[in-house]
This record gives sequence, structure tokens and C-alpha cells, in this order.
Amino acid sequence: MREKIVAGNWKMNLTKNEGLLLVDGVVNGLNTADVKVILAPPFPFISDTVSKVEKTTITVAAQNCHQSESGAFTGEVSAATLQSFGCDYCIVGHSERRQYFGEDDTLVNEKIEQLLANNIKPIYCCGESLEQRQAEEHFEVVGKQIQSALSGLKREDLLKIVVAYEPVWAIGTGETATPKQAQEMHGFIREKLSQVLRDEAENVSILYGGSVKPDNAKELFSQKDIDGGLIGGASLNSTDFLAIIHSF
Ligand code: PEP
Repeated sequence: MREKIVAGNWKMNLTKNEGLLLVDGVVNGLNTADVKVILAPPFPFISDTVSKVEKTTITVAAQNCHQSESGAFTGEVSAATLQSFGCDYCIVGHSERRQYFGEDDTLVNEKIEQLLANNIKPIYCCGESLEQRQAEEHFEVVGKQIQSALSGLKREDLLKIVVAYEPVWAIGTGETATPKQAQEMHGFIREKLSQVLRDEAENVSILYGGSVKPDNAKELFSQKDIDGGLIGGASLNSTDFLAIIHSF
């Protein structure tokens, strides 16, 4: 059985007090143990967030890491450091990293290897742009992303990855893929994974991301191959984030 997961990506938002209040709100309001809740705050919050969720089922993700083990990379954070601070997951390949920081799937593949070597589970984001969807290239684009980012990974490592399908045109825009569009792509991704994993592809959680809100989460999450969500904007408000988690 694959896990149901709802992950909150705060991106570059919130000051110390705001962030810690948000964690308290989620910890105090969570009333299910059936959904794995992951909080992905900016780096400075990681240590406090890990302490605050210690006695709960909530876990913590980073939003990025460097592809090298350690070294002279001023301003970067290694997977080994993240692991030592209690991060269980790390987002990689987010479209904002691709768009603003020039990251491609070759680099993402290196980051994934580094995370796995340090016992951190990657949350691998993929998804097409609006132009690619309009040109009906979305399956080809996502297929290639998955192929290059996950190439060379051992079967047991592939099973540690969480995939997040995030059509770029739906991130932070208020526009959501329809449940049918999302399910189609999730089914395609699972099919792609099954070329390597066979039946075990059924055990990989595939999250949908892109303007998930309390009023559209239930229908999206009820699709056969949608195992939860990667939530941006709505994860900054504990009431909305909890409503999304509890909509399973
Ligand atoms: C995201 O940050 O990955 C995301 C999906 O953002 P939003 O929910 O705001 O569209």
C-alpha cells in the first residue's frame, strides 16, 4: 500500500514568529495519522520545526540541497547537513529551481543520488509548461524528465522517491489541472515507473501540485493515481493546509 502524503512547501516566505506559529497550528490541528504530513520550510526553520514535530507523525523536508557531499560552495547546504538536522525528505526539481536557477534533470539526478546516499527521500517534481501543454507535448516532456532524473537509480532507491506532478501553468496561478488531466498524467507516470519497477510502481506515491486549495483537494485526491499533494500557497495558512490534509 502506498502512502498518502500532503507536503507543504513554504517557498521563501514567513519570518521566525510567523513560521513557528504555523507549525504550532498544524501540530495542534492535525487529527489524522492516515496521511503523512511533511513540512518544507526555508532552511533556517528546519531545526525548530524538527523539534516541534518530534512527538507527532509530521516530518520535515528541505526545499533544496547541493549535489556535492561537502566543500567550498558558499551559501549552499549539503544533504549530509540536512540529514544531521533531522530532515527526512527534500524537494528536488521544483519548477522554480528549474526556471530561476537553471536546474535541469542531469543536476537533479546528481542531487537525488546525494540525498539517497544520506538517507533523505527525494520529492521529485516534474511537469510541463503552458506552451508544452498547448502543443500537446506534455506526456513527452514529463516522460523525458522522469527518464533523465531517475536514470541509473537502483530499484530499491527508486522505491524511496516521491514523485510530484506539478504542471508549471498551475503553480501559484490559481489555475488547477482538472482531476481528469491530473489523473491522466499520474497514470502515465506510474506506467513509466512500472517499466523499471513492474508491480512495485503501485507502491510509489505520486503527488499533485498546482493551486491545490481546500475546495478542490477532495476531488483531486479521490483519483486513482493521485496519492496526495504538494501544496504551496495554501500551506502558509494552517486552517487551509489542515482542511486539505483532512479532505482525504
Ligand atoms: C508548489 O509550490 O509546489 C505549488 C504547487 O504551489 P501552489 O500550491 O501555490 O500552486
